[in-house]
Amino acid sequence: CGIVGYVGTRDVSQVVIGGLRKLEYRGYDSAGIATLDDGKLRVVKSVGRLANLEEKLLHEPVQGHLGIGHTRWATHGKPSDENAHPHQDCSRRFAIVHNGIVENYLALREELISKGHQFKSETDTEVVVHLIEELFNGDFLQTMVQVGKRLRGAYALVAMTKDAPGTIIAMRKASPLIVGLGQGENFVASDIPAILEYTRNVYVLEDGEMAVVKADGVQCYSLDGEPVSKEVYAVTWDA
Ligand code: GLU
Repeated sequence: CGIVGYVGTRDVSQVVIGGLRKLEYRGYDSAGIATLDDGKLRVVKSVGRLANLEEKLLHEPVQGHLGIGHTRWATHGKPSDENAHPHQDCSRRFAIVHNGIVENYLALREELISKGHQFKSETDTEVVVHLIEELFNGDFLQTMVQVGKRLRGAYALVAMTKDAPGTIIAMRKASPLIVGLGQGENFVASDIPAILEYTRNVYVLEDGEMAVVKADGVQCYSLDGEPVSKEVYAVTWDA
């Protein structure tokens, strides 16, 4: 439902939780965060309010300067800690958050289970992260292009991996996603208010576009992996 991603120099959990709070109006049933903490992928998630997640984070703090977060509005699988996003693959190298519905998730799930993947949730989303693990060839962008080709339905997807420690990849098909442009830092969000505190310059991803987001720059692509150049949209209103 709500998505926030960050890469830069700030404390990632503050940016992500603060951003998710700005998106609370959309409604949600659970929340979670993944960060790259000293090279380790850390995931903390909780059913219920953002306050429940924050409470958990007091006991299991996550550090770092790159991460993704999500507030979930369940479509497949009940609201629970396990079904909350971010989801991880078996080797815990990748983490993803997703808005929308992966329509062909049952077929993908069967295929991935037959290849030995073990699922931990009841969501449609979890197939995506196992698919990334299955298809990963060392090139994060090309892997995500291949993943996109296998997915049917609507998605705003944001992925991170400890194998590409300074990079977040965002991709959009039918569900909204924007990239916030900072100096030495960049943001991803499902809606502009999440990042307005930090920047007013954004790329509004169009249907069928993706973005490779690093601290020092953002490059957008079509879902085929062809570079596209985007106009910066300067936000003039206040949230
Ligand atoms: N379909 C996904 C799920 O149920 C994503 C829901 C959302 O957009 O928050 O987990």
